[in-house]
Amino acid sequence: MDLQDLYRDVILDHNRTPRNFGPLEGSSTDVQGSNPLCGDRLTLHLRLAGDRIEDVRFEGHGCAISTASASLMTEAIKGRTRAEALALFERVHALLTDDAAAPDEGLGKLAALSGVREFPARVKCASLCWHTLATALKSPAPDAIAAVSTE
Ligand code: ZN
Repeated sequence: MDLQDLYRDVILDHNRTPRNFGPLEGSSTDVQGSNPLCGDRLTLHLRLAGDRIEDVRFEGHGCAISTASASLMTEAIKGRTRAEALALFERVHALLTDDAAAPDEGLGKLAALSGVREFPARVKCASLCWHTLATALKSPAPDAIAAVSTE
């Protein structure tokens, strides 16, 4: 299976059946993100236990790519530490924006996101949830964050 097939299959699957979609009881951090270019809006719910992301869910409305990317992200970061999740953000960001970046092993299904590079107008759709996550994890007081925007 080449990367374009993987991209299409993974995006379709995760848009049709988003993982970890809905409210999160006992969340410790809730951050809103929006991509005005496309109209994507999401709220990321995190439950942090010490340094670890114990649980994560998301809600919102967006295009297929923004929904699928958020679904993939929640699967990838659940159970990870703050530092691991931020490292993953850096790798995915490179994958989305750097034409020379090859998906490395260990990214799993996230590698499919490199297919978004074929559609430059949609990069912000795919990166919205990741920017929202990074902002939430880097802030000492996440609940004080104004909404994250890709603009
Ligand atoms: Zn979008």
